Amino acid sequence: MSTANVKANSSGTPEDAPKVSNFLRQIIESDLAHGTYAQRQWAGSPGDAAHHASGNPDPAKIRTRFPPEPNGYLHVGHAKSICLNFGLARDYGGVCHMRFDDTNPEKEDTEYVNSILDAVQWLGFNWDANGTSHLYQASDYFDFMYRAAEHLIQAGLAYVDEQSPEDMRLNRGDFNTPGKDSPFRARTPAENLSRFREMRDGQLADGAAVLRAKIDMASPNINMRDPAIYRIRRATHHNTGDTWCIYPMYTFAHPIEDALEQITHSICTLEFEDQRPFYDWLMARLSESHTLADGTQLSALLAAPSPKQYEFARLNLTYVITSKRKLAQLVNEGKVNGWDDPRMPTIVGLRRRGYTPESLQLFAERIGVTKSDSWIDYSTLEGCLRDDLDPKAARAMAVLDPIQLTITNWDELMGEGALDNCHAPVHPHHAEWGQRHFKFGKQLWIERTDYEEVPSKGFFRLFPGNKVRLKYGHVIECTGANKDANGQITEVLAQLIPDTKSGTPGSDSVKVKGVITWVSQADAIKAEVRLYDRLFSEANPDAGGKDFLASLNPSSLKVIEAYVEPSLANSKPDDKFQFERHGYFVADRIDHTGTKPVFNRSTGLKDTWSK
Ligand code: ATP
Ligand code: MG
Repeated sequence: MSTANVKANSSGTPEDAPKVSNFLRQIIESDLAHGTYAQRQWAGSPGDAAHHASGNPDPAKIRTRFPPEPNGYLHVGHAKSICLNFGLARDYGGVCHMRFDDTNPEKEDTEYVNSILDAVQWLGFNWDANGTSHLYQASDYFDFMYRAAEHLIQAGLAYVDEQSPEDMRLNRGDFNTPGKDSPFRARTPAENLSRFREMRDGQLADGAAVLRAKIDMASPNINMRDPAIYRIRRATHHNTGDTWCIYPMYTFAHPIEDALEQITHSICTLEFEDQRPFYDWLMARLSESHTLADGTQLSALLAAPSPKQYEFARLNLTYVITSKRKLAQLVNEGKVNGWDDPRMPTIVGLRRRGYTPESLQLFAERIGVTKSDSWIDYSTLEGCLRDDLDPKAARAMAVLDPIQLTITNWDELMGEGALDNCHAPVHPHHAEWGQRHFKFGKQLWIERTDYEEVPSKGFFRLFPGNKVRLKYGHVIECTGANKDANGQITEVLAQLIPDTKSGTPGSDSVKVKGVITWVSQADAIKAEVRLYDRLFSEANPDAGGKDFLASLNPSSLKVIEAYVEPSLANSKPDDKFQFERHGYFVADRIDHTGTKPVFNRSTGLKDTWSK
């Protein structure tokens, strides 16, 4: 982030703010108090029980991880998960691992890897701790996962099932009916082992067999009815190429990844709650030793104590879609201009819209974590941005819908061509940030809506006979307007009231009810302004499987030509401002240049949507 116009956060970063407790904090505090993980060893890199046994006491009190699949750009929901996992590690003397969960060969792409790393770092986090870079990819553990599968087979806890997918589904039963044992369930460990190796060696066709954990076909939890843990899939993996034609299932791979990395608290979203019994089963089986029928001992593969899974409610935000697939559709069908379109809820989109890392951290802190799904109102997100920017964004005047204002007595009072120097504080609460300077002259730009020929009720701005103050300038009295042949107003006319300049003695002797913003034709700069609004006009655009494209807001982007005050001439991409009376704006990080300024509206000054 450029800091030229965004000063240090004077309201305190989220790190300094008192933390609201939640169930995850309570679990961690209890684990720390009881020393649940105090005896763990860490060998400096991920590995099995023997590896970590050779290490030292873990310098990290807890270990969490952020495990995205590199199959798309991160969005605001991921930001919640990032702030949560990295934030808990930071707050409790722990370490958070950055892990690419890339065990699914079909969907992943290295294109996304860098954008994900960028997003996490931009949000203010990193994975370096205790001299180690905790950046991992799950596909590096394929060898170990394979070994764990053979381990289960040898212990009589997994079998190769060659039922047709159809039979497998039928025999799984349902909520009311217990499942039926597969005819392959009684295979011996030796048979299973050689068949599994044939799977690995490419001797079976895709889909011809799966390796299943042998648990309980009558379990009330269908996920415990002998879940598949390895499948045959001839696909080229972005990291391991064609080394493997069998791949672990997510539910098998994920707990193992956690254990190899010595994760203590594995935090995921609620839809994995039903998978927790399998997570625990697998962790227990792999971290204990087994005595085989012939008396041989299989020693524990994974270090104990095992990681534990905890589920929290995913972020649902009104007017926003967070499915990667649907976001991709918006991009691919040209409904938005790319992943970083400022209307997108992606982290790159929010960043280009003018969101700051601090505002997103504040958002994560404010919405908290709960154990039940709910919807967060979009205005909460915007409120966090306003609260973050208000104390740190420089102020500026801008006229977004310009009409000329002519001071008809200017030449007579000030002399032809004269310009008057005006100034205003860069920030009303930071005198030390200095002043902005601009000219006042005969021809100014004002907002078209600041003039009404016949004033509506409660309108105190320009109408014939009324006096207003031009902010940081003089008081004027409106005398009328000129129109074109169509009756369109082309110019507003006013007379300057002498001795009313802001900041001069006696300047407030003339009382006015209205103050308006303006820029001078003498020094204003032309700028493109992109007025963004919500991408969807319905609060739940994809609720109940409806076509989310149907509720695209047709006016989510309006591009206008505006005039801005000269202090903005030196603005750099990413600089953030409050345009007085209009809201928060950011110099576009891609298109803004010194010769062609482009500003994006980040958010209005107050919440206009929830009314
Ligand atoms: P999608 O289903 O859109 O592909 P995902 O949940 O599968 O998204 P992952 O890349 O697997 O995306 O997510 C990485 C992490 O981010 C996971 O731990 C996941 O729980 C978390 N996460 C994803 N979406 C949200 C959300 N809306 N709110 C909170 N956390 C989320
Ligand atoms: Mg996922």
